Amino acid sequence: MIDPQPNCTDIFEQGLMPVDQALKKILSATPQLADYQIINIEHAKGRTLAESITAPFNVPQHNNSAVDGYAFHAIDIPTEGITKLTVIDSAYAGKANLTQINSGQCIRIMTGAIIPKDLDVVAMQEHVECYGTIISVDKRHKQGQNIRLAGEDIRQNETILPAGKFITPADIGLIACLGFAEIKVRRKLKIAIASTGNEVISIGANHSKEKIYDSNRYILYSALDRPDIEIINLGILEDNAETLLKQFKQSSLYADIIISSGGVSVGDADYTRTALKQSGTVDFWKIAIKPGRPLAFGSIGKSLFFGLPGNPVAVMVTFYQFVLPAIEQMLGIKNKVIAPLIKAKSEENIAKKPGRTEVVRGIIKQDNEGNCTVKTTGKQGSGILRSMSLANAFIILEHDRSTVKAGETVTVQTFSGLF
Ligand code: AMP
Ligand code: MG
Repeated sequence: MIDPQPNCTDIFEQGLMPVDQALKKILSATPQLADYQIINIEHAKGRTLAESITAPFNVPQHNNSAVDGYAFHAIDIPTEGITKLTVIDSAYAGKANLTQINSGQCIRIMTGAIIPKDLDVVAMQEHVECYGTIISVDKRHKQGQNIRLAGEDIRQNETILPAGKFITPADIGLIACLGFAEIKVRRKLKIAIASTGNEVISIGANHSKEKIYDSNRYILYSALDRPDIEIINLGILEDNAETLLKQFKQSSLYADIIISSGGVSVGDADYTRTALKQSGTVDFWKIAIKPGRPLAFGSIGKSLFFGLPGNPVAVMVTFYQFVLPAIEQMLGIKNKVIAPLIKAKSEENIAKKPGRTEVVRGIIKQDNEGNCTVKTTGKQGSGILRSMSLANAFIILEHDRSTVKAGETVTVQTFSGLF
């Protein structure tokens, strides 16, 4: 049984906002980027299409051979015994063969070569007997076999990729086979990140008893380090309303999203609250989630603002549960499952209070039959970043759930897809 490490937030509290309600509010306040940029397809992986792609021609353009072998007329396939056919020519990929081929004749054909007019069967070379320029075929050959039909992959005028498609290497292959060198993608999202706290110092600064190195900005930096995002690093901001106000206002002139960490819990929220009251519309929420209960969300000028908690694990949990879905919505990414939810059997009891979502860090395993089991990474304090580093998944214990008994099924969100 995991020690739940009691703390003051464990006292049952009324009026906490359920996770799904918070996410709904965030997404309904998140606009979609309208701007686009034209880029070479070589650099399009991980970007989002701003405009659908329509095929200017069929792919393949012509019926062609799927194998190396011999092409002939289906009427020459015998019902019994064998038929001998004379090989009169060859067809190679990249060069059309215009020879007239009659019944009783065939051509040697290579993979990808256009099937000459009227021929409607290709035999794999391994499936025919060959004696110099004569081959013998039998009844096992079938009309249409080993022929790739014109347009069987892509039809002319078909929309093959919709606007909003998150571009993968396969998509780039499709776009390339249609001959497009450049495409319209949504412009990069500009995201400003800041840490707050007088105790927080940058790597390289003098370490002393009262100071801690900044983990959060590096976590956020690496989580945002992807082709469709431009990161603006605001550094560490001191706990001072004026400084915060100045920085956030300045950033809102060019950032689509501003993300800060720390300074949103009751003890120190006054700085951010004072600052944010003057610079925009930001609400301070207490979300029914552990870890990550305090969260500030709203807008500063044209920017969306997320004030994440200070503890690094809470930063990661709130980032992946609330900020990433907003980022993907702003980029207009459609139909992409960020990280699928899967079911696994818990290997142990996990203490859980109903009335809030608990995001436990876990290690998921799959046996040879494909069954998944999961265990926790041990101590789950929101300041214990090793619980994230040891984990390969979030165990998501739903709002109404109470303590999980070993053997019960739980919902798991694997990190592959998230990270
Ligand atoms: P706060 O909400 O600002 O009171 O922060 C909560 C806890 O998280 C405190 O123990 C902070 O020292 C810690 N913390 C805040 N910011 C960071 C950071 N950037 N890196 C690591 N720990 C932090
Ligand atoms: Mg602080």
